[in-house]
Amino acid sequence: MSETPKDLNSLNRAAELLHHRGQGLSKGDPIALPITTSSMFHLPGDPTGTPGYGRVDNPTWEALEDALAILEDAPCVALPSGMAAISAALFATLGTGKRLLVPSDGYYVTRVMSSEFLAAFGVEVTERSTAQFAEGGFQDFDVVFIESPSNPGLDLCDLRAISAEVRAAGGISIVDNTTLTPFGQRPLDLGADVVVASDTKAPGGHSDLLMGHVATRNPEILARIKNWRKMSGAIPSPHAAWALYRGLETLELRFTRMCDTADMIAPVLAAHPAVQSTRFPGLPTDPAHNLSATQMARFGFLIGIDLGSEERAERFINQSRYLRPATSFGGVHSSAERRSRWGDDVPAGYVRLSVGCEPPEALLQDLSDSLDLLDP
Ligand SMILES: *Cc1c(COP(=O)(O)O)cnc(C)c1O
Repeated sequence: MSETPKDLNSLNRAAELLHHRGQGLSKGDPIALPITTSSMFHLPGDPTGTPGYGRVDNPTWEALEDALAILEDAPCVALPSGMAAISAALFATLGTGKRLLVPSDGYYVTRVMSSEFLAAFGVEVTERSTAQFAEGGFQDFDVVFIESPSNPGLDLCDLRAISAEVRAAGGISIVDNTTLTPFGQRPLDLGADVVVASDTKAPGGHSDLLMGHVATRNPEILARIKNWRKMSGAIPSPHAAWALYRGLETLELRFTRMCDTADMIAPVLAAHPAVQSTRFPGLPTDPAHNLSATQMARFGFLIGIDLGSEERAERFINQSRYLRPATSFGGVHSSAERRSRWGDDVPAGYVRLSVGCEPPEALLQDLSDSLDLLDP
């Protein structure tokens, strides 16, 4: 956990991220972040205010949390996966008799975790589609969990309006910002109480780690999350924290490339005769386009296309040279999968495409060639 750096709005977050650690170094210190793996710390006498034990304190996590705090403009707690961050946020804010609203079309593990575990502790769990969040009625909920754009359907809901309504009704809003990262959308600035994210995706960026974080400007919630990590023992490995720190140093560069390429590719895919329908907030024809312009800095790097059948979708994915057939997203290599294979409520031919860092023309050519091989 770390304090929010001052005056960040007047600084460039990506530049600050790269130089924040360096500004505190002494002569002879390493420029690159060292990994500290120690479970024990030298601790004679009064233990207060000093790192004491590896489940509670770790200098590598702290450096990572400083970097995340620059991106989020809020104190952050690092956790070992996106689900660990989501669990921390939900267990820290809920209890027996409390009412939770989750999206029915969001990341499915959040939903299953809520109905299998939280419900068993007496939390009343309600599901609603992301588009239906616009209907309001938040006085019935203590915690409202929001995912926009939703994964995998890429639907949006109005974060500013919903956060304000939830707060007015005395509830807590939690936004899963995984699909856009702080460079694409800033839910805390739009009024949300808590942001959770899977840093396994674009922030790590190389498909070689699992991590997550919680960001909040609410000191009570922050303290509960930190305590949850300490007591549940759901702590990040120093190696994964180090690898994520390294990933964050190039996040702005990669995210910009990925979003630029998605902006270029989405209209071409949408216009191809083999594609039946396309979801991408950047397309003027997308039902969420107008809303996206009011709350997102970028349209993201995920594109949904419906190719009409499971067989055509699988053929498209597997015959593309520059698409890894894999679950998860946000890596430097473009990847894709048919989400209905996990039971998500999307058409059998719906492919979620994660645009990577390949040279844009090479990727576009490959995807167009692969679509050409499908019968229209
Ligand atoms: C992947 C993902 C998660 C879970 O993250 P893990 O790091 O796999 O635990 C949560 N929410 C969304 C939107 C995701 O895409």
